[in-house]
Amino acid sequence: MPKISMSVPLVEMDGDEMTRIIWQLIKDELICPYVDLKTDYYDLGLKHRDETDDQVTVDSAQATLRLGVAVKCATITPNAQRVEEYGLKQMWKSPNGTIRALLDGTVFRAPLVVGGIEPVVKVWKRPITIARHAYGDVYRNVEMHIDAPGKVELVYTAADGTERRELVHEFDGPGVVQGQHNLDASIQSFARSCFEYALATGQDLWFATKDTISKTYDHRFKDVFAELYEARYRARFEAAGISYFYTLIDDAVARVMRSEGGFIWACKNYDGDVMSDMLSSAFGSLAMMTSVLVSPEGVFEYEAAHGTVQRHYYRHLRGERTSTNPVATIFAWTGALRKRGELDGLADLADFAGRLEAATLHTIESGRMTGDLARITSLPSPQTLDTRAFILAIRETLDAETAA
Ligand code: NAD
Repeated sequence: MPKISMSVPLVEMDGDEMTRIIWQLIKDELICPYVDLKTDYYDLGLKHRDETDDQVTVDSAQATLRLGVAVKCATITPNAQRVEEYGLKQMWKSPNGTIRALLDGTVFRAPLVVGGIEPVVKVWKRPITIARHAYGDVYRNVEMHIDAPGKVELVYTAADGTERRELVHEFDGPGVVQGQHNLDASIQSFARSCFEYALATGQDLWFATKDTISKTYDHRFKDVFAELYEARYRARFEAAGISYFYTLIDDAVARVMRSEGGFIWACKNYDGDVMSDMLSSAFGSLAMMTSVLVSPEGVFEYEAAHGTVQRHYYRHLRGERTSTNPVATIFAWTGALRKRGELDGLADLADFAGRLEAATLHTIESGRMTGDLARITSLPSPQTLDTRAFILAIRETLDAETAA
């Protein structure tokens, strides 16, 4: 069969450790035999980031802004131990942080739902996608320990020197105090990314804050979303048959637990941090979480939600067989290929992405899977495969389903 052709390249961001090994296997066995793959390649492996003084990360983000779609392998965010291990010039920043800042994007994380891996919450039938606002609030806070009686105030000094003051608390004994901020511009970008992604995926959008208690701060978030929805998105949502729904965060949590899933849940920074871990473990496994960074302009960067699976990599280096789950990385590739297909009007490319995804899930449902899934599946007598054998089993399923 002739290979499927592409017109515009994907931005390819290679990465580190076990996921780098999986990356190459996926390309060699599941993509290049079927697609005449065109990529604009950037090596974000830690060694090359160090050699280029991290310029390669910036270049890859700029290429993404230019070309519109990227696929990224997991990368090491260096800490002191990594600086020593790799002999780094300095402790480079998180590549994801750098890319997110340049794209001004929001991260959407969604679990993959597959037969045999049942969510802990029995009523969940479809994935729940979490969007986390990634700026400000408690993550950019200023805090103080108060050790003696005294007064704490919020003071705003305008450019012309005029002041506004609010009493935080009159302390008559020790305590703690915290200042937080956010920016209309950042909340607007977050809201736009959420509305755009809801339209791009045809899913309802939920948003929740604690505006009954936080009548200025959280209320601002509620208003920014509502104003943008009315001004720019209501008509498009109605035409697409999807809805925007705002409620209180505690009500949202209760409704999520009773829902069937199949929607996007936009969360403030802290809520998203906590709820995304709750959702990924409740849906089954971190190795089955996909992640996509969406900019307000509609630029997409796809990746797996997990890291580089360091422990498996060290085992791999010792020559031991590993059973690392490649599913989220496969779905990063299919997400990016489908998006390229949609943008470039290449129906066969988008169709291939769908077939590879189906083949991946069907392989698991047939009882062949990696060790992490074999440990939690409800299927009787699952067969645990190493990473390579699992990828080859997916290829076999893909070929059989394409021929059928
Ligand atoms: P990790 O996601 O690599 O591993 C966390 C745990 O989940 C481990 O027990 C691991 O064995 C298991 N796990 C994760 N993915 C798996 C898979 N595909 N198959 C089987 N088991 C899997 O996170 P970590 O150990 O905290 O970090 C390792 C490295 O990854 C660090 O250097 C960190 O900086 C980096 N990291 C990168 C990203 C990213 O690029 N998006 C995200 C998180 C961590």
